[in-house]
Amino acid sequence: MRIGIVTEPPGENRVAATPVTVPKIIALGYEVVVEAGAGTASSFPDDAYREAGASVVDAATAWGSEIVLKVTPPTEADIARLSDGATLIGMLSPALRPDLVEGLATRGITALAMDAVPRISRAQSMDVLSSMANISGYRAVVEAAHEFGRFFTGQVTAAGKVPPATVLVAGAGVAGLAAIGAASSLGAVVRATDPRPEVADQVRSIGGEYLEVVVPDEQKEVSSDGYAKATSEAYDRRAAEIYSEQAREVDIVITTALIPGRPAPRLLTAEDVASMKPGSVVVDMAAAQGGNVAGSVAGERVVTDNGVVILGYTDLAGRLPAQASQLYATNLLNLLKLVTPEKDGRLTLDFDDVVQRGVTVVRDGASTWPPPPVSVS
Ligand code: NAD
Repeated sequence: MRIGIVTEPPGENRVAATPVTVPKIIALGYEVVVEAGAGTASSFPDDAYREAGASVVDAATAWGSEIVLKVTPPTEADIARLSDGATLIGMLSPALRPDLVEGLATRGITALAMDAVPRISRAQSMDVLSSMANISGYRAVVEAAHEFGRFFTGQVTAAGKVPPATVLVAGAGVAGLAAIGAASSLGAVVRATDPRPEVADQVRSIGGEYLEVVVPDEQKEVSSDGYAKATSEAYDRRAAEIYSEQAREVDIVITTALIPGRPAPRLLTAEDVASMKPGSVVVDMAAAQGGNVAGSVAGERVVTDNGVVILGYTDLAGRLPAQASQLYATNLLNLLKLVTPEKDGRLTLDFDDVVQRGVTVVRDGASTWPPPPVSVS
């Protein structure tokens, strides 16, 4: 079968296959074609794809392939460019985009959503939510450091003593831990919160201080699958006090708090932001899901009346395009390996496998979303 790598829309710098993954896709028996310029924004020139064994082609040829690899969800116009019975693999946000699932089904497409890979141990090598969150957490610190008018690290110099920056990271999942690690390694004093008590040791092991929100035992905030559930009133009340104290003290706040299937919890109020020092920086990584911080705007840089910069960027992973493309493409290659068991260049789907079932949102024109629940391992 022929696999086409297509150019992403303006503003998306990632690409779904790289000169490193192309030979490995070819080793699975596929022919690979790459739309001219598809890798340019990720610093992968056409010649590098040619050397890797791909043909560089025009858009129509790439989109006309039997399998199309993408990063972002396709537009309606994109769906019209797919050939009958084609397979599309990319991040499709099926839970948020029923219209997309329906559009793909109407065209008789088979669609695999990389962002629907079940989050079980066996599927970690395909887990784009984790690989992209890791990059985003790191980049959130880089963006904050760029905005902040001071050092992160403390220094004693002939021109005076400089205190280290103080960073609060709210939510210590994949993105939060990456942010804690990056901020600590730049020399900042880092504190973190999370309703899942098991993250305390992880936070400390990468140089952070865990701020525990102490509430009675029966109000533990973790569901049976290890993910956070909606927090209780008692938790929220105590957490709000901590955020108010911290907002007055810290220089940088990075929020990453999400609860699967719900809008992002609001952590910092407008009063908290108003109490921050001028020149402080907030990065709201949950801005696309409604925001953890009052006043953040998805995709925007906002400066408040008291001189606090609030970044609501939703493209943090794409701001490290070469790295993000490499990790995304590797996740995608691992999925291709799973669905090409004979290495014969033919994609086959085994619905008895929870990973293959989980990622398949449309099969031969029939919606298969949502999949049955998966027990976490
Ligand atoms: P996420 O993006 O859904 O949430 C981010 C963080 O926000 C989580 O740590 C969550 O506990 C936290 N949070 C929720 N409500 C909050 C609140 N009110 N205040 C502060 N923080 C709040 O989660 P994620 O980062 O994708 O994953 C979370 C954890 O899931 C990981 O650290 C890991 O332990 C587990 N996980 C397991 C696998 C696997 O393959 N087994 C894969 C990915 C993640």
